[in-house]
Amino acid sequence: YLEMKNVKKNFGDLEVIKDISLTVRQGEVVAVIGPSGSGKSTLLRCATLLESMDGGELSYLGEKAVYTDNDGKVTYAGADELRKIRSNFGLVFQNFNLFPHFSVMKNIMDAPVRVQKRNKKEVYEEAKQLLDQMGLSDKENCYPYQLSGGQQQRVSIARALALKPKVLFFDEPTSALDPELTGEILKVIKDLAARHMTMVIVTHEMNFARNVANHVVFMENGVIVEQGEPEVLFNSTNPRMKDFFGKFH
Ligand code: ATP
Ligand code: MG
Repeated sequence: YLEMKNVKKNFGDLEVIKDISLTVRQGEVVAVIGPSGSGKSTLLRCATLLESMDGGELSYLGEKAVYTDNDGKVTYAGADELRKIRSNFGLVFQNFNLFPHFSVMKNIMDAPVRVQKRNKKEVYEEAKQLLDQMGLSDKENCYPYQLSGGQQQRVSIARALALKPKVLFFDEPTSALDPELTGEILKVIKDLAARHMTMVIVTHEMNFARNVANHVVFMENGVIVEQGEPEVLFNSTNPRMKDFFGKFH
């Protein structure tokens, strides 16, 4: 489905992603965990083609967006092709990133109507359904500042879903939230998983990663230390991982 091979990313002299290969299969929930500064957000930005890469390959449904030849020369697909591939990816951030001067409804409808040029009435009906699914039916005319953090995050999930992504990426979607609001976002993500939404989630919620993800990736210093089924990973004997998990008890 989405495949990354030997991906590298540097910021100046700093090698932030060293040699990462990761496959995301259809309907799968991938959790990315690891210490602060290990490169998780950068990996997500590379995966969604928001960030350029310094090496490696990225393909979606077999179509190559980026590849590197034997001389280390990195080549990107054409702009139209990249835009097409990128349109399959949705992204939800830690800090919600809603437009403060747009109502909830306008936040959701803006991109589908303006960018995807879809029918306004149809988008409106779908947006109503999404708000309903997020438990926010009564909030369509509110502005972001009138909502709790958890509600704002649910709006930003609805906004991402309105673009009908094939893969939804989350970068620490609950880390700006109080514990009780965290639970409501995790429930929304769990519901999406039950509907077989393909998702990649950077998270510090270890129980969530363990119980909801099909595949867990542990990163440190720009490399994947270990990846696999949650039960295998969470019982790893690797001292680095035991040390990391120990911090959550
Ligand atoms: P956290 O858990 O704190 O969010 P992270 O695993 O997401 O951490 P990244 O944000 O990917 O880590 O950062 C990895 C490294 O890359 C850090 O050392 C960071 O300082 C560096 N870095 C990230 N973005 C940039 C940038 N735009 N320019 C320079 N360095 C960057
Ligand atoms: Mg991060």
